[in-house]
Amino acid sequence: MSDIIIIGGGIAGISAAAQIAPHAKVTVLEREDELAYHASGRSAAAFIEDYGNAVVRELNSASVDYLTNANGGVLSKRGMMLLAKKEEREDFQSEAKSFGLNEISKSEAKEKIPLISTKIVSYSAYRKDVSDIDTDLLFQNFLKEARSFGTLVHTKAEVNSISFEKNRWNLITTKGEYSCEILINATGAWADHTARMAGIETLKFTPYRRSIARIPVPGGFDPNDWPLFGGVNESWYAKPDAGQLIVSPAEEDPLEPQDAWADDIILAEGIARFEELMEHPVERTTSNWAGLRTFSPDRSLVIGPAKDNPQFYWLCGQGGYGFQTAAAASQLTSDIILSRPTQLSKDVCEALSPKRFL
Ligand SMILES: Cc1cc2nc3c(=O)[nH]c(=O)nc-3n(C[C@H](O)[C@H](O)[C@H](O)COP(=O)(O)OP(=O)(O)OC[C@H]3O[C@@H](n4cnc5c(N)ncnc54)[C@H](O)[C@@H]3O)c2cc1C
Repeated sequence: MSDIIIIGGGIAGISAAAQIAPHAKVTVLEREDELAYHASGRSAAAFIEDYGNAVVRELNSASVDYLTNANGGVLSKRGMMLLAKKEEREDFQSEAKSFGLNEISKSEAKEKIPLISTKIVSYSAYRKDVSDIDTDLLFQNFLKEARSFGTLVHTKAEVNSISFEKNRWNLITTKGEYSCEILINATGAWADHTARMAGIETLKFTPYRRSIARIPVPGGFDPNDWPLFGGVNESWYAKPDAGQLIVSPAEEDPLEPQDAWADDIILAEGIARFEELMEHPVERTTSNWAGLRTFSPDRSLVIGPAKDNPQFYWLCGQGGYGFQTAAAASQLTSDIILSRPTQLSKDVCEALSPKRFL
């Protein structure tokens, strides 16, 4: 039985641990005091099958079965609506097509979301099969599964040095020394930093900040049955959240890996874009946060062994899709490591492989 260390206790690392643990001795090392502290604790928790590039969409689709059925399922129906102003017709049409949305009338849109201003909103499109993901439940299910097969999960274990000798990795961490045969890099925004430590050629990931504000619903409506809704070109989006709305400026500002926080000006600008299409003003925010969505240069995930050392595996570049792709991405990681056939096509596996950057 090979022994495997996964660096990173976010959704990527923990889902991979769950899939591999029945077949190997797995240890997860996480720097923070708690798991899912970074991107995985800050998402909008949406499942949109037609989101991301074609390769990401394959992973979304391949994850549906697990998300729907495993452990009773973690999806609940939400729906999705795109809103556009008069001058945005062209972008509206191409975006509605890309997201698989059907155009609806202004009055239908208003019926679904009474807050919108039909004076400003000229076009709307909708689909009902977009879901919320119970991200906490999904994470806990993977964690429980991993632990039930003996996975050790060590928090406060920051990996500070990685060396390779006699076919084994040696790690020095804030919790002591570890050694393993196979190392999996699931460090999110720190993907390249971790590779550099291990002497592996970096792949030029970029972490981009995305912020979210929580607001009481303008006009005092009950939003619980509202869909996720947003402006064209991802200029903002909003979603019901425990009786309030979360609103994101949907920004992509490149940052160094860090504990990200929301920028007040960016938030205010995003809220203004949202507010412009609504009938009532936003009076205040109740909280806000930001996280890093980390993309590879072609915006597909990177899954597989490094070209310079086949005992180093990448599981990185989850971007804005880490939860909705987790089931299929972790399954593929496990299949590659265990040399098993995968359910994904050869083309998709190649498009995810780190070797595409050679
Ligand atoms: C605002 C926002 C909205 C989003 N909305 C959605 C959504 O609706 N649906 C969706 O599917 N996805 C969404 N995402 C994306 C999703 O959250 C991420 O893709 C996913 O959480 C990435 O998971 P990860 O495990 O790769 O990274 P992380 O959760 O960041 O985990 C990486 C971990 O590695 C640890 N680490 C790094 N270096 C070291 C080291 N040297 N030693 C030990 N540990 C280390 C870090 O501390 C961190 O905990 C959103 C993200 C944001 C920010």
